[in-house]
Amino acid sequence: MSQLEEIELICVTCPKGCKLDIIREGDTFVKITAGCKRGKEYARQELTDPRRMVATTVKVNNGLHPLVPVYTASAFPKPKIYELLSILRELQLDAPIHINQVVLADALGTGIDVIASRDLPASSAI
Ligand code: SF4
Repeated sequence: MSQLEEIELICVTCPKGCKLDIIREGDTFVKITAGCKRGKEYARQELTDPRRMVATTVKVNNGLHPLVPVYTASAFPKPKIYELLSILRELQLDAPIHINQVVLADALGTGIDVIASRDLPASSAI
């Protein structure tokens, strides 16, 4: 039988930043004390499948600027973020880039796209 484990987390779901007290036995959550329901969901997610939004920049050939800002369409699995950033560091796009354009589809097989967050015209278009 698994040991009871007491865990403390800070909820980052909203600016209130409540302390979350979690009691877990193996994979089973025995008790989660949180300021609201969203905090309980955050605790479960953080302890089973932690995810973060990722925002960075990607190189653009022949663009008005050399880089375009991009972000993940939804929170990305935390253990794969370093690998994702390595791929995005090597990626080179060709201008023009359009806002909401998918620059990397189904990143690392997660089903999550990486999307441009602004328009970036080609340098010859100006
Ligand atoms: S527990 Fe609820 S109120 Fe507290 S920080 Fe999380 S989302 Fe905000």
